[in-house]
Amino acid sequence: MRYIITSLFLLITLCCYSQSPIEKGLNVINRQDAETYISILASDSLEGRKGGQLGGIKAAEYLKNLLVEMGVKPWRGNYYQDFSPTNHQASDGSSLKLRNVLGYIPGKNSDEIVMIGAHFDHVGVGRKIAGDSIYNGADDNASGVAAVLQVAKAFIESGQKPERTVMFGLWDGEEMGLLGSFHFVEDHASYIPIPLVSSIPIKAYINCDMIGRDKNGDGSHVAAFISNSKPIFKEWIENDIATYNLTLSPEFPSLNSSPGGSDHMPFMQKGVPVIFYNTDVHPDYHKPSDEADKINYDKVVDITKLAFLNLWHMANAESF
Ligand SMILES: [Zn+2]
Repeated sequence: MRYIITSLFLLITLCCYSQSPIEKGLNVINRQDAETYISILASDSLEGRKGGQLGGIKAAEYLKNLLVEMGVKPWRGNYYQDFSPTNHQASDGSSLKLRNVLGYIPGKNSDEIVMIGAHFDHVGVGRKIAGDSIYNGADDNASGVAAVLQVAKAFIESGQKPERTVMFGLWDGEEMGLLGSFHFVEDHASYIPIPLVSSIPIKAYINCDMIGRDKNGDGSHVAAFISNSKPIFKEWIENDIATYNLTLSPEFPSLNSSPGGSDHMPFMQKGVPVIFYNTDVHPDYHKPSDEADKINYDKVVDITKLAFLNLWHMANAESF
């Protein structure tokens, strides 16, 4: 018996030690965490996470605490990037106060940055529909935020320092006109010593916005919008879906046809190559009925794994 237990222990140890860093990362991306993150962010207590309001501020605090817990570092010494969009006045005449949540994992080459992001704000409390006035935004966009959080966790748990610095951006004010991602991009550009540059030093950006629902009941459908300049992104996606047995049937529509616009747009305007994941608009879009129990969690998990693999290539490929 003792021999069996010892051998079993040895086998488990060998098995764990033989895992590659990528596998270690993939193995910590799970359904339970997706459910936790999405159900907390989309709970009525966060009141639809409207930018500048109490529910939005509480959501930012929750996200910051998760990054601290994981061991993700604060960007420029602060997880919060506070800003007031100059052209937005709140209803009482004061300026709107918004905050992005930003973290990073330093790479061996800190001059090069790759990034994944998702907006955490939603539209708050509004017109009552079927007795409900809280617009929970489970798909839009607690689903994308859950992906970014699990990708961060996976990079940490891989145990391998990335070649390039990896950044995580959780945007505020998307629903008011991509305010958080525009602010980040403009702020980032302002650190470049050369005036009037049209680009920013970010090598690639992945955006996740609404990745938890199905189109026509097709559980595996996902739209992957990718920059024309990087056909390799499509190769990575197709190869990794096959290699890691992900239940996803991606469609690759043109980026020009991306629905309604999302936080990849400010990056695109600065010439940053992007991948944007989205599982289409649905009847609960921007309604109080966009609730956590309608999410296809298995799909969220597989898109999260795919986004992790994309970011892994972006962070570690010699060139792309
Ligand atoms: Zn959205």
